[in-house]
Amino acid sequence: MRKTKIVVTIGPSTANEEMVEKLIEHGVNVFRLNFSHGDYSVHKNSIKLIRDACKKLDKEVAILQDISGPKIRIGEIDGILKLNKGDTLILSKKESSDPYTLTLTYPDIIDMVNVGEEVFFADGTVQSVVIEKNGDYLKLKLLNDGELTSKKGVNFPKTRLNISAITPKDEADLEFGANNDIDIVALSFIQNRKDVIKAKQVMARYNFEPFIVAKIETGEALENLEEILQECDGVMVARGDLGAEFGVTKLPRIQKHIIEVANRMKKPVITATQMLTSMKYNPFPTRAEVSDIANAIYDGTDAVMLSDETTVGKFPLQAVEVLHDTAKDAEKDYPFFKDFEPLDSSGAVSKSAVELAKNLNKEALVTFTTSGKSALSLSRYRPKQSIYAVSHSLKTHRILNLVWGVRPLFIMKPTKNPTKLLYNFVKKILDEKRINPNKRFVVTMGSTTGKEGSTNLIRILNKEGMEAVLNYEDL
Ligand code: PGA
Ligand code: MN
Repeated sequence: MRKTKIVVTIGPSTANEEMVEKLIEHGVNVFRLNFSHGDYSVHKNSIKLIRDACKKLDKEVAILQDISGPKIRIGEIDGILKLNKGDTLILSKKESSDPYTLTLTYPDIIDMVNVGEEVFFADGTVQSVVIEKNGDYLKLKLLNDGELTSKKGVNFPKTRLNISAITPKDEADLEFGANNDIDIVALSFIQNRKDVIKAKQVMARYNFEPFIVAKIETGEALENLEEILQECDGVMVARGDLGAEFGVTKLPRIQKHIIEVANRMKKPVITATQMLTSMKYNPFPTRAEVSDIANAIYDGTDAVMLSDETTVGKFPLQAVEVLHDTAKDAEKDYPFFKDFEPLDSSGAVSKSAVELAKNLNKEALVTFTTSGKSALSLSRYRPKQSIYAVSHSLKTHRILNLVWGVRPLFIMKPTKNPTKLLYNFVKKILDEKRINPNKRFVVTMGSTTGKEGSTNLIRILNKEGMEAVLNYEDL
C-alpha cells in the first residue's frame, strides 16, 4: 500500500467515464474540482462521473471543491501587451483606451497599496514597484521585461489587503457544494483565522460541514499559519501563488515550514502545483520533477497534487503513475515513527499504539473512528504499519483518503459496547475476506464508541485473539 495520497484536478483531459475509472484504478485518492473554471453543469457532470465510477469499482474517493476566493486579476487586454524593464504602467479604477492603463477585478485595492510596495503579475513573471499613488490610480515601474494578456493574476506581496475572503461567487459555490455531495472544501486566498470563520459561517447557512483545507497562498497567510490551522482541518502548500508572492527560489524553505507546522498540528497537508509540469506535453517527467515529488514526501506531506497535468495535459494517467511509483520508492526509506508530544489523551493512546505496533512488529494498526481524528492521531506518528480505519460515517470514510498512511476500510455502525464493535469487525473481515486475518493487529478504540475524541483502549489482536472475540457472541 502506498502511504502518500494522490490528489488530481479533473478537467477536459479527464472528465469522461473511461478516464475517471482509470484514474481511480491507478490509485487516485481525491479528485479536485477547480471552481475558478467551469460552470455548475460541468462540475455536476464531474461529480456524477466520479461517484458512478466509485460505485462501479466498489471504492470510495473524496471530492474536493476548490473555491476561487478573492484572486485579483487585471481586466481585458487587446492581444499581448509587451513590456520592458523601466516602462511605466497604470493600474486605474477607471477604464481607459490607453493600452498601458489596466483595470483590476477589485478596484478598491488601489486604496490599500502604498508607494514603494511591489505588484507582481502573471505568476510573478512580470514584476513592478509602485512609484506614485493618486486616489484613482497607481503608477508602476516595471522591474523586468515581460508580457501580459487578459485576466492575468496580480499579487501584492508586501501589502496588507483588507478584502473579504469569501466573494459572492464563493457563497454561491458553497451552496452548490452543500447540495452536491462535496467532502472537502479548499479555501483560496484566506489571510487569517477570521477569514476561515467567515467561510464556516457561510457554510453553516447551508448546513454544510465539509473538511476544510486552507490554501496558503500569500505572505500574510504564511505569517498567520498557526492561527489559520487551528481553525481548519487541513492545509495546502499553494506553490503557484506562493511562488508569485515570494519568488520561486524561496519556495523550498516555505514548503518545509508549512509541512512541519501541519505535521506538528496534526493537519493533513497537500503539496500542490507544478509537480509534473513537463508531463503536460511529454509522457516522461524530468529528473528534477521526480526529485521534487520525493522531497515533498520526505518533508512530510500527506498528499501530492496535480493540476494542469490532469486537466489539460496529454498524459494524465502517466503522470499519476509517476506520482505513485515515486512515492512507493521514497517510502522504502521513509523516516517512519516520528516523535511528537501528544496533543490530548486520545493522542497519547495513539502514540502508545504506534509504539506497540513498532515494538511488537505488528503488521497493521486498526482504528474505529467517528470524526477521523483517531486515524489522524495515528498517522501523525507516521507508523510503518498500515492504518486501517473503520469509520462510523461515509463522510469520514471518504475524507480519510487524504490522510497519509490511512486506508479507509469500510463503514460500520457505532455500538455502545466496544466488545460488540470488535466482534462485528472481526466477523466482517473474516466473512468478507477484506483483509488477511493472519495479520496481527494493534487496535485502538473508545469505550464510548461513536463519540469523538474518546479513544482510550488498545487491543492486540492476532488470529487466536480474533477467535476469542467471536466467542463473545452471547454478549
Ligand atoms: P490554484 O491554487 O491552482 O487555484 O491557483 C494552487 C496554487 O496557487 O498553487
Ligand atoms: Mn493559487
